[in-house]
Amino acid sequence: MILIDTEDLIQQLHKRGVHRVAVQLPAGLRRQAFDLVQTIRAEGFEVLLSGDPCYGACDLDTDAAALADVLVHIGHAPVSENPSVLFVPVSWDFDVQALASVVPLLRTKRIGVVTTVQHVHLLDEIVTCLGTFGIEAVVAHGGGRAPLRGQILGCCFDAARNTGATEILFIGTGLFHPLGIRLATGARTVAFDPFTAHAEEVDTERLLRRRAVFIEKARQADRVGIIVSAKSGQQRLARARRLAARSERAVLILMTEVSPDELLNFGMDCYVNTACPRLAFDDQDRFPVPLITPQEYEIALGIRGWEDYRIDEFCGDEAPAA
Ligand code: SF4
Repeated sequence: MILIDTEDLIQQLHKRGVHRVAVQLPAGLRRQAFDLVQTIRAEGFEVLLSGDPCYGACDLDTDAAALADVLVHIGHAPVSENPSVLFVPVSWDFDVQALASVVPLLRTKRIGVVTTVQHVHLLDEIVTCLGTFGIEAVVAHGGGRAPLRGQILGCCFDAARNTGATEILFIGTGLFHPLGIRLATGARTVAFDPFTAHAEEVDTERLLRRRAVFIEKARQADRVGIIVSAKSGQQRLARARRLAARSERAVLILMTEVSPDELLNFGMDCYVNTACPRLAFDDQDRFPVPLITPQEYEIALGIRGWEDYRIDEFCGDEAPAA
């Protein structure tokens, strides 16, 4: 069940004394947009719904925000403080007893547990449930862009790293996050999908073999485009500039949506993505040429060794300002 606390949202809007409200939801929640807008309007607010793509709290609709007194961003925790945005995380419940299917896959009695923002409210229940199977589950704070205890993002795996565990359980959908955890921490990683109750150990070997092919192609590229995001929550201009300065073959390209169609006419042999780190992994198949990470480009340039392969993260100095 997906839960949006509309009562609390309305209260907060009244408290702010606003009238014009812009509302932004990611694609997976847009079916709820109409009812949500009607609920807010019924309280006397004027509502403008953002229709542009939204992938995370890094991706605020600043155009809609400029036309309203406040931007209500649904579905994500803030990646940075922003007083003109009201962040409304969404809770997705599931039956934690389904975690019984994970237990046979675990090799140690002390594991780290992480999840995405939708399920963090269940972490205490999850720890208790695993305890009944004799498993000590450690939940750590990540900090930075992922402010909630036990929360990871596709660009920040600190909450997994900070457990110090040699085995991590990821609870959520898809394989990108658990693959990222495995690459970021080196810990054995088990993924559990709470909606299908399917559990599996993740294996990065196939992914790395594929990435090695892209790196080799990048090494041979005559023309390289280094993509810089125009979204403030994804912008790493300094990182991109440093990479561009390493090679005369590289040029900087600023864009809001990293789209293969928009890049086609540049005719580059390879693109280096400094925007959302997920793009190079999730969207590679949409690109006719390699779309690689900054770390992979460093390997192609010979300034980083393959043995020092790292998943791209927004951490420390590398994090976007907003
Ligand atoms: S940069 Fe990408 S992974 Fe990070 S919060 Fe934004 S959409 Fe998610």
